Order: sequence, then C-alpha cells, then structure tokens
Amino acid sequence: MSFTVPDIPYAFDALEPHIDARTMEIHHDKHHAAYVNMLNGAVEAAGDACTGKSVEELICDLDAVPDAQRGAVRNHGGGHFNHSLFWSIMAADGGSPGGELAAAIDAVFGSLDGLKEALHKAGMTRFGSGWAWLCSDGGKLSTCSTANQDNPLMGPAHGGHDCGAPILGVDVWEHAYYLRYQNLRGDYLNAFFNVINWDEVGRRYGETL
Ligand code: MN
Repeated sequence: MSFTVPDIPYAFDALEPHIDARTMEIHHDKHHAAYVNMLNGAVEAAGDACTGKSVEELICDLDAVPDAQRGAVRNHGGGHFNHSLFWSIMAADGGSPGGELAAAIDAVFGSLDGLKEALHKAGMTRFGSGWAWLCSDGGKLSTCSTANQDNPLMGPAHGGHDCGAPILGVDVWEHAYYLRYQNLRGDYLNAFFNVINWDEVGRRYGETL
C-alpha cells in the first residue's frame, strides 16, 4: 500500500532545450523519490489515521493526520502530489489551450500572453522555494503561489489557498532549474511556457467544472 514514484510519460531529454535531461533525471529519480520515501515513512508511523488514503486525500485533510506526522505528510505528501502533477502537465509539443479552457483564459487574463505574465509574476514573487499555480474554482481561473511543497488544496490553515484545484503548476525550487539557468528563474519560467501539455491542463480544467 505504499506510494511509488510515477514514471515520467516521456524521455528525460524530451523537453530539451527548455528543461535539460540531467535536471529531469535528478529531479525525478532523486528529489521526487525522496519525497515518496519520506511520505511512506510518515504514513507508516501514523498508522490507521493515514492508512489507505490517497495522497490527495492526505493533503486535503491534514487535520486528520496525527500531530507527530502532520509536518512530514505536508512536506513530503505535498512533494509527491506536486511533482506527479508537474510531470503530467509538461510535454515536448504541448500545443495550445483549446475549448472551454481557452475561453476561460481569455475571460480572466485577456489572452494566453496575459496568463503567462500572471504565472511568471507568481513564480518570480515566490521568495525562496515553492510553486506557482493556475487554479480553477468551479471554472473560475486564478494564479497564486505556495511555499515549499505546499499546495493550494491544503487550504489556508496549512499554507494553501481557497482557490479551487490546481490544474497547472511550475516548480520554482532551485533544483528545478539551477543546472541550466543558475540564478535566472525568470528565464526558466519563460522556457517552461514552451513545454506545457495543454491537453492535460484542459482535461484537469474539465474535471473542475
Ligand atoms: Mn522539485
């Protein structure tokens, strides 16, 4: 019943030159694997309160996690959930937003460029390590950021927000970009926009309607 690291649905070098193969390999095989290992340890220690729950169920109801394991489940459960989402919403040739998602982006941000500007700002203004998000609350889009491995779904009491579900996230920890971009987080964010899997983001958007 323990959690496992999902395979990335493309090769480590598929996102070159925007995200380099070495970064993808270390990020998935080392960083994500460490979150999963630590999450499994915390869930085992927590016992019945956490056994059998999905990672989404765990991070959406951190109050149900025993005090002694709540911090570990927040950090490593968040890490597992966030990275699983991250791999899925990237692709070598991600296309462009379609259908209801495209209309929703235009309604809130004016254009796809407007969304990119908002997401770029969310990533750049997150001090230290964290994530920038595009969220849908029943179809209403917004951008935000969270610290560390927090996720909007954790809710305001645990570092999240009251803004619905994340449908797109970009990791702004230095481990996500330092090999290729060093201190230039903004260049990494600009490159990320070239590898967004808009079909998957649109599918996730559809689930929130
Ligand atoms: Mn990461």
